[in-house]
Amino acid sequence: MSMKLTVLCDNNTLIDQYYLGEPAVSYYLEMDGARILFDTGYSDVFLKNAEMLGIDLGNLSHIVLSHSHNDHTNGLPLLRQRFDVENVPLIAHPLCFYPRWYENTYIGPPYTADIGTHFNYQPTREPRWLTENCVFLGEIPVTHDFEPRRPIGVVELEGGRQPDMMLDDSALACRTEQGLFIVTGCSHSGICNIISHARHVCGEKRIAGVIGGFHLLQDTPQVDDTIVFFKTLGPACRLYPCHCVSLHNKAKMLRHLSFPEIGSGTVIEA
Ligand SMILES: [Zn+2]
Ligand SMILES: [Zn+2]
Repeated sequence: MSMKLTVLCDNNTLIDQYYLGEPAVSYYLEMDGARILFDTGYSDVFLKNAEMLGIDLGNLSHIVLSHSHNDHTNGLPLLRQRFDVENVPLIAHPLCFYPRWYENTYIGPPYTADIGTHFNYQPTREPRWLTENCVFLGEIPVTHDFEPRRPIGVVELEGGRQPDMMLDDSALACRTEQGLFIVTGCSHSGICNIISHARHVCGEKRIAGVIGGFHLLQDTPQVDDTIVFFKTLGPACRLYPCHCVSLHNKAKMLRHLSFPEIGSGTVIEA
């Protein structure tokens, strides 16, 4: 039950490593013989980096989307153009493929109601085990008061436009020898809510690692509460805050926690 994760796309690039970066997320995970693409970034950056890394995205077992926003989903049509992936199961929350705007800018997915004609779309609100040890967590309940759901822009559902509470935001949890390794996109559902839900779904308390955007952009009391929670995970837990964690908040976290810099091309084994 070991897992290997390769960062195909991150905001950050690392010195002397000539992979591309963009403010978006795409990870490639290998576990239990499965080959999982988690998010597709905003452009073809993930395709170019995968090619440089020798990763064949034409041989995927699953495509998983953390949530609907275009910095995680906009690469889907490019993946479809490049590779024959129409039969690969595409796992996401049922509210993922609805149009969304922030102020007047479109920030939703590149497909909406027509997604099923382009991909083998398998929406699920409930947790869905992809392999024996890797689960898509489905809808994340709020269990920490300091991480309430807050709307981001508007979503157009069947009933019309309404504030987007981002119920489609989810994550993966992988069981490893050292505990759960959590893989998130933007953690709009709250990173601590996600970790607590993963523990509940997997029946495992130990957290081996957490990678992804934790959506900590402003310096708010939530950052302090998150640091307190992370400290309870213990020094063995490997943290990789990236994507939508501001430099200021990373610096604040580093006063209490330890974690390395990552970027496009980083490989993590757990
Ligand atoms: Zn987002
Ligand atoms: Zn994002």
